[in-house]
Amino acid sequence: MDATPQAFDRVLSSMCTRPHPAAARAAQRFLADNPGDPATYPDVAALEEHVLDALGTVTGLADPAGYVAGGGTEANMQAVRAARDLTASDDPVVVAPTSVHFSFQKAADVLDVNLRLVPTDDDYRADPDAVAAAVDDDTALVVGVAGTTEFGRVDPIPELAAIAREAGTRFHVDAAWGGFHLPFTDHAWHFGHAPVDTLTIDPHKVGRAPIPAGGFLARDDATLDALAVETPYLETTSQATLAGTRSGAGVAGAAAALDAQWPDEYRENHERATANATYLAENLRDRGYDVVTPELPLVAFDLPEATFDAVRADGWRLSRTGSGEARVVCMPHVTRAMLEAFLDTLDTARVGTRE
Ligand SMILES: *Cc1c(COP(=O)(O)O)cnc(C)c1O
Repeated sequence: MDATPQAFDRVLSSMCTRPHPAAARAAQRFLADNPGDPATYPDVAALEEHVLDALGTVTGLADPAGYVAGGGTEANMQAVRAARDLTASDDPVVVAPTSVHFSFQKAADVLDVNLRLVPTDDDYRADPDAVAAAVDDDTALVVGVAGTTEFGRVDPIPELAAIAREAGTRFHVDAAWGGFHLPFTDHAWHFGHAPVDTLTIDPHKVGRAPIPAGGFLARDDATLDALAVETPYLETTSQATLAGTRSGAGVAGAAAALDAQWPDEYRENHERATANATYLAENLRDRGYDVVTPELPLVAFDLPEATFDAVRADGWRLSRTGSGEARVVCMPHVTRAMLEAFLDTLDTARVGTRE
């Protein structure tokens, strides 16, 4: 079958992007290596340790435990799994804001734990009072999101961590998307800012590593020990990952992406993306659209159905939040010229649909 990889010049909805060239080259070299068996593939295993150290630097933790996961979904699932296995409750509950990523639904389903979703405040952030009220003796884990998928909001991480600590439960931060923006902001979000037990940060999103490269980080080795199973037929005798065979391309790509970009290129990306988000939000407001003021570079705004359909029909990849807003994620491939062209399309579509 003849197929062409998606061009990125009209992709506004995705949290993935073109990999960094150095990361793409590194991924190509390590395609056949399996970091799931480090005794057989020691070099890629060493690269994975290097990625962990680098992600520890990004997230305020020297010498983190963890590994390069398939993505944020696996990392979140492992955080829930560790919490379930370490709690005394027979009927464990995960407490999270409604803005949490749908991967927690999958985790709750697969791991047979209860997911208790707590309404956010009127600016789409976790509401600490509501979270505190939802926590009880069966709570195994409280989750905060640092950069929500739909609105780019950063939950009040220190407040949520304090609630979890007070209740004697674990605390997880999901920074899958936000983790490569937040170091260049004033937000308190990582291990160095609060008693965070586990954290998700995806190199394959804003980090510009090739897919699959997610990051699962833990403060203590005990978390990984809780996840480890014996692996009789491998040269290495235990494994804490969810996947067995894993992608050496993901690990090597993440290592090269971090080496090439931390911190200067990531800072430049953050600044460019933030300026683009501000530009788009202002230009949408000038045209009369209701815009959710961006916190991280993600712009959500009301767009009538007919205009949304017309824009999609013109080839733009645009998606909606659960509550219906269109959302533009200012990823590294999203340039000012692209946004200008998008606004032109919007104007034409608007006339066409007599909005
Ligand atoms: C994208 C995302 C995830 C899921 O990550 P995948 O890499 O798609 O599995 C989890 N949490 C948040 C906040 C995300 O934005």
